Amino acid sequence: MQHSVFSSDILNFWCAVCGRGYKNKCTLNRHLRFECNKEPQFECNICDYKAKQKSTLKAHMIKHSREQERAGGHRISSQKTC
Ligand SMILES: [Zn+2]
Ligand SMILES: [Zn+2]
Repeated sequence: MQHSVFSSDILNFWCAVCGRGYKNKCTLNRHLRFECNKEPQFECNICDYKAKQKSTLKAHMIKHSREQERAGGHRISSQKTC
């Protein structure tokens, strides 16, 4: 049995731009590529809200669905096309 030498709580790499800490360089690079100083790439299709992370947008969308419930919802009547 080998003990892995992960020191999981120690952050070794710091983003020079926003100051966030990361455990390894890969994660930091990913942050720099996809998160840091990036335009939000997840757009709400109901309003003009934009999120940098999918989970953030998801949380935002829940808000919309609650609003719709409160408003009674737009009933989409299934129209026959012929
Ligand atoms: Zn950053
Ligand atoms: Zn929205």
